[in-house]
Amino acid sequence: MNKNGILKNFFTANIPYKDGVTYRRIIMINSMLLLSAFFFFAFAYINYVVILDSTVALLDTLAGLFSIATLIHLRRFKKIQTTAFLTIVILIFFMISFIIKNQNSHFGIIWSYFIPLFAILFNGKKVGLQLTLFYFVIIFALAYLGIGTWNEGEWSFIDFIRFIASSAIFSYIIYTTESAHENADYELKLIRKHEAEILDKLQKQAITDGLTGMYNRRHFNEVVPKLLAIARREESYISLFILDIDYFKNYNDYYGHQKGDITLQKIAKELIRFIQRDDDFVFRIGGEEFAGLIHTRNKDESEEWISTLNAKIAALNIQHKKTLLPNKIVTVSIGVCTTKVTEGKNIDYFYKKADEALYKAKERGRNTTVMVH
Ligand code: GH3
Ligand code: MG
Ligand code: MG
Repeated sequence: MNKNGILKNFFTANIPYKDGVTYRRIIMINSMLLLSAFFFFAFAYINYVVILDSTVALLDTLAGLFSIATLIHLRRFKKIQTTAFLTIVILIFFMISFIIKNQNSHFGIIWSYFIPLFAILFNGKKVGLQLTLFYFVIIFALAYLGIGTWNEGEWSFIDFIRFIASSAIFSYIIYTTESAHENADYELKLIRKHEAEILDKLQKQAITDGLTGMYNRRHFNEVVPKLLAIARREESYISLFILDIDYFKNYNDYYGHQKGDITLQKIAKELIRFIQRDDDFVFRIGGEEFAGLIHTRNKDESEEWISTLNAKIAALNIQHKKTLLPNKIVTVSIGVCTTKVTEGKNIDYFYKKADEALYKAKERGRNTTVMVH
């Protein structure tokens, strides 16, 4: 581990970054536990050996052991909330014991201000406030009982009131500061979520054709090379077909562009239905041109399947008075290239072969499919 790694481990217990508030908490809790374990054991030693107070030494030892246990718990289970809670429980336990023992000699009660500070920063405003209230209820009761006895009788009712007022103001300031932080963090998360949603929507829009909801040519260019690479590894066949509507210019001229669009949508819907498997795709690659890609182990099976497509489009039975074909319905011509993907057989190869086949299908009178290998 390099120097940076050691420091990062020391401060963060190697817990990955999630958000600003949580990260700050991890750093504070982790370093606080490390430091408190060290100081509790040091105090235990001083109290036992120098001051000769074995009760305080025992309390310090217990708090030190508890700090170590909590630290191990944090590093092992990475449960920040539990650790934050336990850390404050240790502190509260220690402070109450200290105040009972110290009787506010040398104004020892002033260390109480650290409880709301750490409780709220570590646990967030809600749990932090509850822990703070729990602590102060006990401490205020002790402070009240100490009137006239603590500090050799110097601790008066006025001191008691001052202590309550200053603790309350202090806690309030910390609470509102933390609250502002948490709200800002929450807002930031909402904004990030919203941004992610917009990005997702834009990414989908970028690869979708607006009229039919199908994948567009951009996606065709992106995804087909990837599918070819997979097929090449698996040594399976790819069928790429290109489909063009017959005499569609006449259709538009006679029925109008809007009706033409509706017909394009109907054909697109039929094509989407035609492609049934998750690893097969259809695209609208031009005005009234579509492409489909079928991934197959059995070449005959896929060719047989594609050869049913003309009949399926004809079965939509969309009237087309201006077609030069005798049936007077909308038909399509299809060119297909089916082959194993080997060296040099890239998207351009497949496209060119399928387009040549389509041209032949048009030449052969339309409403038909031409297959090449
Ligand atoms: P062929 O049988 O040889 O394919 O004849 P065709 O008339 O279909 O010829 P071509 O494929 O060149 O015609 C394309 C026509 O498709 C031109 C245009 O009127 C129509 N078209 C292209 N894009 C759209 C579109 O988005 N909406 C509509 N309604 N029509 C479109
Ligand atoms: Mg065309
Ligand atoms: Mg056409």
